[in-house]
Amino acid sequence: MAFGRKRSGSVLCPGCGQLVGVRDDRCLSCDRRNPGLFGFAGMLRFDGPAVQSALIGANAVLFLVALLLSGSRIGMGGFLGFLSPDTEVLYWLGASGAVPIFMAQKWYTVLSAGWLHGGLLHILLNMYWLWNLFPAVSREFGPARTLVIYQAAAIGGFGLSSLLGAFPIAIPGLGGAGFTVGASASVCGLLGALLYVGRRTSSAFARMIWRYVIFLAVFGLLIPGIDNAAHLGGFGGGYFVASRFGVFGAERGRHGLWALGLLAGSVLAVLVSATR
Ligand SMILES: [Zn+2]
Repeated sequence: MAFGRKRSGSVLCPGCGQLVGVRDDRCLSCDRRNPGLFGFAGMLRFDGPAVQSALIGANAVLFLVALLLSGSRIGMGGFLGFLSPDTEVLYWLGASGAVPIFMAQKWYTVLSAGWLHGGLLHILLNMYWLWNLFPAVSREFGPARTLVIYQAAAIGGFGLSSLLGAFPIAIPGLGGAGFTVGASASVCGLLGALLYVGRRTSSAFARMIWRYVIFLAVFGLLIPGIDNAAHLGGFGGGYFVASRFGVFGAERGRHGLWALGLLAGSVLAVLVSATR
């Protein structure tokens, strides 16, 4: 990301990627209005490793905030529950699930819950997967589109989990959740995006991704307390958004706008949740 406003010269059009003058009214190639975005179009080119570090950093900061707010009510019970923030604090910061969404109409928590974690092991496992999968997705789609996939998967995951929590179906392991947090819906979205790439490019790669998916599914069915519905919704959401992007189209500035829009939505979701 190049900081600062550009006042002269040319930039890449956020719509089509052709060179345009910063001050042009319209792009000559795709007819987009104000393609220089008032000189800020250059800021929409993200750096992959920086985005990955920022994602992990944001998750870590919110985990620390949740712990600090929990004070003496931090859970210490057992392996999975070690260093777990208070449930009320997580609800307040924007946990999702059937209870917040269908009983309190906090539908926007589909954007906030992915940034919250229920314990030290929970965040460490999710960040480990994020750290492993992000570079591969970013290499294929670019960091901005990876950010869009990551956040769209959270919407898909928490949407499905909350829906199944409120309106149960008789499929074992897909009970949905009354109350749910964690980056794993987004992580499963990255896996979904990679499966899409594998299916379009290399069957060996697709087989490798299927092995990850089967591992996560078995892990989720064996360990109690895993929100498999959120995983499935995130996986499907990531696959779907990746298929909209396709494997050949290059990343454009407009993808950076979508990524920033979703990030702003996430920040807003935490703030709105915390102020009501
Ligand atoms: Zn254009």
